[in-house]
Amino acid sequence: ADFGTAPSRKVVRQLEEAGYEAVFVGGAVRDHLLGKEASDFDIATSAMPEEVKQVFTHTIDVGIAHGTVMVMMDAEPIEVTTYRTESTYTDHRRPDEVNFVRSLKEDLQRRDFTMNALALTLNGELIDPFGGMEDLQASKIRAVGNASDRFHEDALRMIRAVRFSSVLGFEIEDQTLQAIEENAATIKHVSVERIKVEMDKLWKGSDPGKALSTIVDTRLSIHLPLFPNDARILSDCVPFATTEQGWSALMLAGHFSAGDVAKAYKLSNREKAFLSDVQAAFDKRQSSFFTIDDYYQFSLEVLIAAEKIWQAFHQGGTGIPVQEMTRMKESLPICSKDDLKVDGKDLMAWTSQRGGRWLGEWMEKIEYAVLHRDCPNDAEKIKEWFLNEYEHQK
Ligand code: ATP
Ligand code: MG
Repeated sequence: ADFGTAPSRKVVRQLEEAGYEAVFVGGAVRDHLLGKEASDFDIATSAMPEEVKQVFTHTIDVGIAHGTVMVMMDAEPIEVTTYRTESTYTDHRRPDEVNFVRSLKEDLQRRDFTMNALALTLNGELIDPFGGMEDLQASKIRAVGNASDRFHEDALRMIRAVRFSSVLGFEIEDQTLQAIEENAATIKHVSVERIKVEMDKLWKGSDPGKALSTIVDTRLSIHLPLFPNDARILSDCVPFATTEQGWSALMLAGHFSAGDVAKAYKLSNREKAFLSDVQAAFDKRQSSFFTIDDYYQFSLEVLIAAEKIWQAFHQGGTGIPVQEMTRMKESLPICSKDDLKVDGKDLMAWTSQRGGRWLGEWMEKIEYAVLHRDCPNDAEKIKEWFLNEYEHQK
């Protein structure tokens, strides 16, 4: 099968017909060569941004200063970036300026790793000036050119190396690894947002354990916003099914609070709430198996995360299989207050009392009774149970 989507191939062809060079580059080429499903078919071209805009009728300036133009082709957005080099970096983050060039090789040279410095032409010819294919076949992550210089230029590349080792299960080549050790401290110049993007990819990778050990071994860990000093417990939790599981493991392995992790890595409110729940569920799990109340209070995802991490902490301890947790969760008589067959209005009608604090208190008692099967979730049965209890309390 041909590489790329029909619209992306059309974009390349039209650039060629207009007399320019155009090739596929980046992660999609790498993933394709690895036999994986590729997405994000990035295109690089010798055409200057203004020239790209002349070739196509519908374009959007998404990053014209960096040479990127979005071409709308058959209602699909295709990113086209002019071949470029990057000049001096003074802040370890982004180049002071980019220069557009007409040579593909120069463009490939500024890319981070050999496996990411591959280009594919429309007729399937691979352009590989830095031995990327060989490294791909050897499962090696190798910086293009002098690794230390490349990390010194842009510190984000160090975290990218680590995240690729998780996603692809690759080894970081020796000199590249050593260069991460040398430049580890410069990671503090990289914004938390960009680190978070890479960490989220790391969590979901196929070998996060290896990547996490590398973070500690290279001492990147001490310069990251927050990281456990010992990656062993963290590595024992792998693989992670979700990014939230990864962040939860980082929190518990480092004995951090949900608030600390959320603040350090700018987690969303939803992620922060998930971590708080995992912390609470984990604390419960430390003293016993989960109770009916725990199954009721926490989402299955939270319980699974807490249990997974508990098991990593307590090797040889008696774990709870996911199946069992799922069964417990599904067999609850109610999932939330909303499932109760009665509400406050019923209570007022039955007692001819006006609303007040007593309502909430009694609704809670009913919720507890139904959850613990002291009373079925049936309006008549609840009324009976309630009136009996209510009379008793008078
Ligand atoms: P993914 O599959 O996760 O998207 P990717 O390799 O496509 O991986 P992107 O961030 O989408 O990563 O970047 C696209 C390409 O741009 C990379 O393959 C690489 O060639 C280049 N690149 C991205 N970030 C950097 C960087 N910090 N330094 C040098 N080159 C980079
Ligand atoms: Mg990509």
